[in-house]
Amino acid sequence: MKKQYLQKTKRIVVKVGTSTLTKENAQLNVERIEQLVYQLATLQKQGYEVVFVSSGAVGSGNGKLNITFNTSLAQKQASAAVGQILLMKLYEELFDKYDIRIGQLLLTKDDITNRTRNLNARNTITELLKMKIIPVINENDSTVVEEIKVGDNDNLSALVAILIDADLLILLSDIDGIYTDNPTKNKDAKFLDIIEKVDKKIESYAKDKGSKFAVGGMQTKLEAAKKVNTAGINMVIANGQRDNILLDIIKTDFKGSLFLAATTRLPAKKKWLLLSSNTKGSIHIDNGAKKALEKGDSSLLPIGITKITGIFDVGSVINIVDQDNNIIAKGITNYSSKTIDEIKGLKINEFKDELKADYLYDTVVHIDNLVLIKEMD
Ligand code: GLU
Repeated sequence: MKKQYLQKTKRIVVKVGTSTLTKENAQLNVERIEQLVYQLATLQKQGYEVVFVSSGAVGSGNGKLNITFNTSLAQKQASAAVGQILLMKLYEELFDKYDIRIGQLLLTKDDITNRTRNLNARNTITELLKMKIIPVINENDSTVVEEIKVGDNDNLSALVAILIDADLLILLSDIDGIYTDNPTKNKDAKFLDIIEKVDKKIESYAKDKGSKFAVGGMQTKLEAAKKVNTAGINMVIANGQRDNILLDIIKTDFKGSLFLAATTRLPAKKKWLLLSSNTKGSIHIDNGAKKALEKGDSSLLPIGITKITGIFDVGSVINIVDQDNNIIAKGITNYSSKTIDEIKGLKINEFKDELKADYLYDTVVHIDNLVLIKEMD
């Protein structure tokens, strides 16, 4: 069943969480990592392009330094500096056995979401792939500050997958996928094999938090699914403790949850919009406007706008929010928040009168500058 959706897969981003890479005592789980490297190497030899997003810097740094809990941000950043080289040292040694070179990229949010800067990261990763070198990516935890941080590697790997037009994102965790409830506590919890859309119901199943040093949990995995699925990329959550799971995902009806991509790939400009997380505010719309946008062939007009939150200028990236407070789309606005506040609810002729000389566009957000998030009902 699941196999059919992944047949055209060529470029894969594999993200592995701290809980898979480290043991309970925060030491690197060398045996597990050997297995993982074997699988990544095998995929590459089979002709797949593989990008590896590895967590575990903070966790393994803590292990090396005998730190059993995180005290402060500065201390975490110090642990990451120590742990990152432990990881890379081990990866290099293990990939060498397969005669495969690796290259390290430590990214910040800005490296991916800034439209001009992200070309650099994209070019470097694609060049490495061309040279058959496996890029090993993590967030630059040691220097990154709150404002420019993605914060968790589920979302980071989703952004990377979108940036490089991957076909598949695999998140390896310590759980097989998503259940309707916690399977260790509720034996009636059902496993979800294929998820077509991350809606409110699916989100209500995601309550857990990962292991002690892990940042994400099911919630960040669902955020990642929404992002990549919107961009036309499939996503799998599977258990990194299962032998040969990566090879199974490609070849068989594996154990894992598959989140299906929206059918069409986004054009470059819309993809950037999706990557861009620096939204300056929100435009709230009524149900009529929501329906029109969902059909996929209209722009956002003033008449459907009910209110504005935040302060933004012409050309800013904004969220479009429905009456139930769901973000249904992102777009680039033709008008500032101040102007929209004056013309909201007006018909085209009325708002032309209202704006007089300032009048420029019929639309507040043109359809070409708007991307619908794949989570709508
Ligand atoms: N970047 C963090 C680390 O390497 C992990 C973030 C995460 O687990 O999502 O320790």
